[in-house]
Amino acid sequence: MARYTGPSCRLCRREGQKLFLKGERCYSDKCALNRKATAPGMHGTGRTKLSNYGIQLREKQKVKRFYGLLEKQFKSIFEEAEKVKGVTGENFLRLLELRLDNVIFRLGFASSRKEARQLVNHGHFLLNDGKATIPSMTLKVGDVLTIKEKSRKSEKIKSILEASVSTPSWVKVDKEKFAGEIVAEPTKADIDLPIAEHLIVELYSK
Ligand code: SF4
Repeated sequence: MARYTGPSCRLCRREGQKLFLKGERCYSDKCALNRKATAPGMHGTGRTKLSNYGIQLREKQKVKRFYGLLEKQFKSIFEEAEKVKGVTGENFLRLLELRLDNVIFRLGFASSRKEARQLVNHGHFLLNDGKATIPSMTLKVGDVLTIKEKSRKSEKIKSILEASVSTPSWVKVDKEKFAGEIVAEPTKADIDLPIAEHLIVELYSK
C-alpha cells in the first residue's frame, strides 16, 4: 500500500485526537483540532459505537499514523517484537521508538517524524560516524547520531535546533556538538503518546 500523502490534519480528525504530525503547528492555536474536532467526511459529526474489533483496529491505525508507518512495516516490527524475550507489547513500543526517524525526532533534530524521514533521506546525519540514510533502521543503546558538518549551516537545520524541545531521558543531546546519543532503552513510561498496545497485541493474536 502506498504512503498516505493527503493532509496530515485529516488523520488527526479521523482519530479524534492530536497525532502531532506537523511539528510546531501542532502545539499552537493553528492546530486544526482546536478549530474542528469532528471526523472528516459527510458523516464526521456522528461517531458510531465501535465493536471490540473496531476499537483494536482504530488503535492500530492511530499508532501507525503516529509513527508514519505502512501496514507492512508495522506488521514486521510487531513480528520482531514477538520474537524478542519479554512482553510483546512493550517490545513493540521499544522497537517503534528505536527507529532512526523517531530517534531523530526525539532528539529534537526534526520537528516531526515525517520531517525526520526527509532529513534522513537527504543524508543529513551520521550514525556512529557512518552513513545513516535508512529511516527504518533500529538503533541501540550507545549509538551516537551527529548532524553532518555540511548540514549544520542549513537554515532549516538551524531553525530546528533553535526551537526548545524537551527530550526523553533515554536520549542525551549535545547541541554544541550537533550530536545525540541513546543512553538507555525507551520504556512505556517514557512514551508521551496515548497508546494501548495491548489492543494491538490482541488484534494480531486473532
Ligand atoms: Fe494533528 Fe493538529 Fe498537528 Fe494538524 S496541527 S497534524 S490536527 S496535531
